[in-house]
Amino acid sequence: MALLGAFLCCVLAAWHSRPGLGLPLAPAGGGCPVAAVGQFWHVTDLHLDPSYHITDDHTKVCSSSKGANASNPGPFGDVLCDSPYQLILSAFDFIKNSGQEASFMIWTGDSPPHVPVPELSTDTVIKVISNMTMAIQSLFPNLQVFPALGNHDYWPQDQLPIVTSEVYNAVANLWKPWLDEEAISTLRKGGFYSQKVTSNPNLRIISLNTNLYYGPNVMTLNKTDPASQFEWLEDTLNSSQQNKEKVYIIAHIPVGYLPFSSGITAMRQYYNEKLIDIFRRYSNIIAGQFYGHNHKDSFMVLSDKKGSPVNSLFVAPAVTPVKGVLEKETNNPGVRLFQYKPCDYTLLDMLQYYLNLTDANLKGDANWKLEYILTQTYDIEDLQPKSLYGLAKQFAVPDSKQFIKYYNYFFVNYDSSVICDKKCKALQVCAIMNLDYVSYVDCLKQYYIKYGH
Ligand SMILES: [Zn+2]
Ligand SMILES: [Zn+2]
Repeated sequence: MALLGAFLCCVLAAWHSRPGLGLPLAPAGGGCPVAAVGQFWHVTDLHLDPSYHITDDHTKVCSSSKGANASNPGPFGDVLCDSPYQLILSAFDFIKNSGQEASFMIWTGDSPPHVPVPELSTDTVIKVISNMTMAIQSLFPNLQVFPALGNHDYWPQDQLPIVTSEVYNAVANLWKPWLDEEAISTLRKGGFYSQKVTSNPNLRIISLNTNLYYGPNVMTLNKTDPASQFEWLEDTLNSSQQNKEKVYIIAHIPVGYLPFSSGITAMRQYYNEKLIDIFRRYSNIIAGQFYGHNHKDSFMVLSDKKGSPVNSLFVAPAVTPVKGVLEKETNNPGVRLFQYKPCDYTLLDMLQYYLNLTDANLKGDANWKLEYILTQTYDIEDLQPKSLYGLAKQFAVPDSKQFIKYYNYFFVNYDSSVICDKKCKALQVCAIMNLDYVSYVDCLKQYYIKYGH
């Protein structure tokens, strides 16, 4: 472990001292070495189920199946169960041994399992988050990690408070190696922070506690600015603008509409509109937004009020493969790597990796593989709002092959025979391109006029 850690440290040091990897630099004035690429990992929704074990009685494989028969349990998990420890370790082992050099990692929350509230406690929730944090810190001792809290990272689940709490204090202590004093202090108070990336000057990560805006959170009912996070966010973006920084926004619950149900925002609508307004006003310094929670792979493009695309947002699939008994589809476990221009943090590409869970269980070996490279699979130039907007317009066309691909990737290659009918597709496409109420409703209307029900 120590040896591997030392190796990683030196690789990173070498990486940062090699502008453009020794390749030709761009002409003076451009300010960006042509071939240089920065990289970071995004992992989310680990949902460790410590009770997972193989046993003949399939109702007893994991608490997260809530008494239902596990469908085909193996060493790396089951689709009715949250993650066994071995699945999570296989994901981190893959990241560590992938040969990819990354400057940092983002980790957008939800470590505890989906089990009934009485089966957990503040203590067990903290233990699970601590366990995951320790695993990451010991495997990647030299990597700066930026976590965000999820709705399951609290007990009772979803009820993240607007004042300090045992959980906020615990994570502030656990995440100290990655964060500075100011970040630790706001994390303690409200579960959010902003932090400069040590290896990337002028890049700031803003980690929002969007669980405060989540529908089931009764702690924030009728509050216009829970924990004064909106005020803090505007102040933080404002000072970033003055200091000529670029910002990546990370959070657990995404903004925008759920791509699989009609007219439902992931957070309460009032908060969604407020956030969209702030993101629009600061879109020139927000170089990307990264979320979890939905467990499926999707992207969104935020447009300004006139309809021009101004921001790219990415929702990463979960590591846990869990689904409800009545759900037909789920996701294979996934982790992803982003590529950006180190000079201005423009997003260039995304590599999605996944584990075919059925295969892994059959072979007793976790063979994590590349699922797709975003620009190559869709033949687009980069991950800029304009490129993704153009792609979403291609999706909208009837029988679009691009969209068929997208819908298969949505479930991380879980079931390539899956079909999205007209209504399903209208919801998907409108959720990609419209994050506020007025434009979303209008999109659905237009879509039906154009392509029928
Ligand atoms: Zn989750
Ligand atoms: Zn969640």
